[in-house]
Amino acid sequence: MLALQGDVREHASVLRDLGADVVLVRRPEELDQVDGLVLPGGESSVIDKLSRAFGMQRPIRGAIESGLPVYGTCAGLILLADRITDGIEGQQTFGGLDVTVQRNAFGSQVDSFETDLHVPALGAPPVHAIFIRAPLVRDVGEGVEALASLDDGRVVAVRTARMLGTSFHPEVTGERRFHELFLDMVRAV
Ligand code: GLN
Repeated sequence: MLALQGDVREHASVLRDLGADVVLVRRPEELDQVDGLVLPGGESSVIDKLSRAFGMQRPIRGAIESGLPVYGTCAGLILLADRITDGIEGQQTFGGLDVTVQRNAFGSQVDSFETDLHVPALGAPPVHAIFIRAPLVRDVGEGVEALASLDDGRVVAVRTARMLGTSFHPEVTGERRFHELFLDMVRAV
């Protein structure tokens, strides 16, 4: 878990319940110890700034380029995107995922909402998804699979062999299947 800011505790709890050994990553040495990295929900611009201040941006970029599996929820998905729109001035991402992500695509905090999503890769039952100042995936590059969309077709979950991203927060609803999928990706490396 990248533990600079965000809902670290919620992710760590789901991962531990699934039997994972969770390391809270704040320094490059801690990054060296992990087989996969989860980027939490929170505020992408803050995580971006802190990662640069703590000398973590370059090591994380390097790890992703070397194929470290990563899963980002909400702010974490923004941080994985190669391209973002509506970021704050100078906002950077780790990148690695060939998508364009629109930050705060549904408006402000008051425009947060919940819905049930059909996710073919997970089967039944549908995923109860919570969107909190959530981003949207606007362009999905070649080699990136759209895993889930809203009724109007807008993409809210994507994956590649080593990367998983969701606009919403499975870690706060008791939904474990995305974390299971991610742990399978980590084991497959
Ligand atoms: N809007 C936030 C951002 O830009 C993301 C919100 C969230 O992670 N719930 O990072």
